[in-house]
Amino acid sequence: MIRVHRPALSAGLRARLAPLTDDIDASREPVKHSRALWKRAAVRRTVHAPLRALLEGMAPGYQRCMYCGDSQGTDIDHWEPLSLNPLRTFDWLNHLLACSLCNSNLKRDRFPRADDGTPLLVDPSVEDPFDHLLLTPTLGVYRPLTAKGEATIEVCGLNRPILTAGRQQARRVVLLCLDLWARGGPEERRTAVLTVRGQPFADVCQAMLRLARAPGADRVFADSPDALDLLRDEGLRSALLA
Ligand SMILES: [Zn+2]
Repeated sequence: MIRVHRPALSAGLRARLAPLTDDIDASREPVKHSRALWKRAAVRRTVHAPLRALLEGMAPGYQRCMYCGDSQGTDIDHWEPLSLNPLRTFDWLNHLLACSLCNSNLKRDRFPRADDGTPLLVDPSVEDPFDHLLLTPTLGVYRPLTAKGEATIEVCGLNRPILTAGRQQARRVVLLCLDLWARGGPEERRTAVLTVRGQPFADVCQAMLRLARAPGADRVFADSPDALDLLRDEGLRSALLA
């Protein structure tokens, strides 16, 4: 999971969303009504389509899921489930792009809160997931840094075996591309950057870039000191972080 940046809505789209929220607010059965409205054909056409286009532009890599970073983001996910807060059904700030597994099979209607009511699910459009989650690229495993990180790992199934194996593979691709970048000319360097930026699991490269500047980096990259030097190279960092 990496930070994503949410653009502002156009005035036209904002104007289409507001009456839908008013409609739910006026309903006697807001949850049921919000579900029906969300599925309405005209809403799918005039609201889902432009929202999806914006979310696809925000998503890592090629429209990857904002939770797992692996599969294609096929669903508009309600970060705060509409079953718990139907008035956020058409709230742009509550929309993320998710794969159907993360959205419908894992996260579903789960939305853990701390005792004081604070949500315990990371919203990657609001905060940096790495403030709550530590990714160890060699293992492909997330460890929690906070209670929010712990709940997010559990709710989103971030350490399911297919993801940990995929992250290990993504790390191998990053290391090969770093080597290509170090030895190649401008064309090879371009290919290396495009390959890393286009692959799933953008969190792996982002974690490696962060770890390269953290205390203990020499230990973390003990088996790949050349990679550590490259991950600290300003030119390469700006190409991979852009
Ligand atoms: Zn997913």
